[in-house]
Amino acid sequence: RIEDISTPKRTKEIISRHGFSFKKSLGQNFLIDQNILYKIVEAAGLDGEKGALEIGPGIGALTEKLAQTAGTVTAVEIDQRLIPILREVLEPYENVRVHHGDVLKVDLHELFRQDFGDVSKVSVVANLPYYVTTPILMKLLEEKLPLENIVVMIQKEVAERMAAAPGSKDYGSLSIAVQYYSEPKLVCIVPHTVFIPQPNVESAVIRLAVREQPPVRVEDERFFFEVVQASFAQRRKTIANNLKSRFFPGEGRERLEQLLQEAGIDPSRRGETLSIEEYARLSNVLFGANI
Ligand code: SAM
Repeated sequence: RIEDISTPKRTKEIISRHGFSFKKSLGQNFLIDQNILYKIVEAAGLDGEKGALEIGPGIGALTEKLAQTAGTVTAVEIDQRLIPILREVLEPYENVRVHHGDVLKVDLHELFRQDFGDVSKVSVVANLPYYVTTPILMKLLEEKLPLENIVVMIQKEVAERMAAAPGSKDYGSLSIAVQYYSEPKLVCIVPHTVFIPQPNVESAVIRLAVREQPPVRVEDERFFFEVVQASFAQRRKTIANNLKSRFFPGEGRERLEQLLQEAGIDPSRRGETLSIEEYARLSNVLFGANI
């Protein structure tokens, strides 16, 4: 019987037989630990009726586990050198499709139409390349793909920022962006030893349960995120000072303070203390005032 792709022995065998060399610039850290792979797959809540989209399958360690659990698996890999390897090692799994491409450039709605026509729900499951974690996750969320969960291995600090609550040091515009589209939950912290080669940063698995509706009503999403960004521009400044520099340069403070009051926000508070509901209220008041 052939060993699973992710065992250290088989991974090393595949890599050396194909003469594959890791590219640090593509964030290539492959998983060689069965337990962590099972934890990732379990967190996604897959079954034979559901689909999984994997970003960056590497040599297929996670893809294999997904193929054994989900009905349909589609993987997008940027590194052309890995495509023949994936075709070979995943050959026994008829429910897997591998595409060569940069996930940031792929038309994901089109990919969903092509590959996930016959599944009830789709989740993204991936050990992400750390150099592009945030752009990939924001693309998945902002494009409003019909996703159930996004379960990803990412840098621990980024996971903590995504899941942070108001008032904590990790809370910022990334927390609000992620929590507007999903409910994040830290699944586990992961030691370096589960990867080859081992990354220099700490890692964690996070699950984003994608919301069907945003948790707050905002008049204009772009403007809402602009207000959030502006409010965190300088963390040590008050919300009034940050908003003044961005939206009221060269004006007195009266109008801004009046609008903050209208939204029920004390001008001396800092951006990091406002909840997503308060940001929604604030951006709706500012939007309504046509600033
Ligand atoms: N899933 C494999 C595993 O867990 O062993 C590999 C994970 S490795 C951290 C990240 C993978 O993403 C690499 O295979 C890398 O080539 C690929 N990758 C990097 N940037 C990408 C991009 N923009 N689009 C698609 N894949 C990418």
